[in-house]
Amino acid sequence: MTTLSKVTPFLAANAVDAFLITNLHNVRYLTGFTGSNAVLLVLPDEMIFFTDPRYRLQTAQQVKERSVIAAGNLLKAVGALAARKKVKRIAVEESTMTLGEAELLRGKFEIRAASGVIETLRMVKSPEEIEKIRASVVLNSRALEQALKKAKPGMQEYELAAEIDYRMRKLGAESAAFETIVAAGPRSALPHAKPGNAKLEAGQMLLIDMGAMLDGYASDMTRMVHLGEPTKKYRDAYQAVLEAQLAAIAAVRPGRTGAQVDKAARDVLKAAGLGEAFVHSTGHGLGLEIHEDPRVGKSGKVKLAAGMAITIEPGVYLEGWGGIRIEDTVVVTEKGCEVLTTTPKELRAI
Ligand code: ZN
Ligand code: ZN
Repeated sequence: MTTLSKVTPFLAANAVDAFLITNLHNVRYLTGFTGSNAVLLVLPDEMIFFTDPRYRLQTAQQVKERSVIAAGNLLKAVGALAARKKVKRIAVEESTMTLGEAELLRGKFEIRAASGVIETLRMVKSPEEIEKIRASVVLNSRALEQALKKAKPGMQEYELAAEIDYRMRKLGAESAAFETIVAAGPRSALPHAKPGNAKLEAGQMLLIDMGAMLDGYASDMTRMVHLGEPTKKYRDAYQAVLEAQLAAIAAVRPGRTGAQVDKAARDVLKAAGLGEAFVHSTGHGLGLEIHEDPRVGKSGKVKLAAGMAITIEPGVYLEGWGGIRIEDTVVVTEKGCEVLTTTPKELRAI
């Protein structure tokens, strides 16, 4: 199936003459272009790519579609070309088109807002995309192992976060997929803690949530490390989160919804008396972006299908004590799922 033939059914179904793609991740998905300024006009019989003169050479290397190199606002060039093509109704991506851009088209064309069209296509990954995610996941796990060799009491959270980011880049990552989270002791009760200058202390739990961007694709993993001997409370809570995570992984298969997978994790934590402490969704899709469809939470209605890449990351957060989360990246297969993350999940103390 050509890329164009994946999108043209949308044009017919919505009675529009063209679909303007302004989300750069969607442009990349459809054309392979990795630069920072481009839009794509999808017509019934062709896709036309627009970028600025800085990307002339890169466009020749990456983009097979007919290309227009335009100085100034790309939307003006789009408008001129669409008018020549006798376009009347044009669908635009409502989540990325700005009001200013819409004004450039309004009056000349009838504008229809569209949402999630390309994002829906992006949910099911091709074998090539899955291999890119796998490579990103493997790199991420290696970076953690290398960085943990440096982790010790006295080190500050942000120092360890910087070490993790450095290791990712040394291993070839383009960047971190999001701001690396290193949260020690009670600060781990903040699910999205920013690393601060708190020093790691013996006897503390340490939550590390990290992801790499490699070849455009994200990985995502959370692991707990305990500095010194853990308490019984920690061991019990860790075991409950691990069981919840394994239950959710076992629930992943084609036809199940994200909500069903979420419930599998939630039921385990409820039974352990930790239902109230699980304050977020079980996971999310990932790919060109760190957070993509499908949702893997209470509102996740999308039926999982082979080729979807999602995270499974239940957690419990107790104010004043700390938080425990365990997160893997998995790919839905014909019969269930494959856990791509290679880092072990047994309780770990250093
Ligand atoms: Zn994460
Ligand atoms: Zn995640």
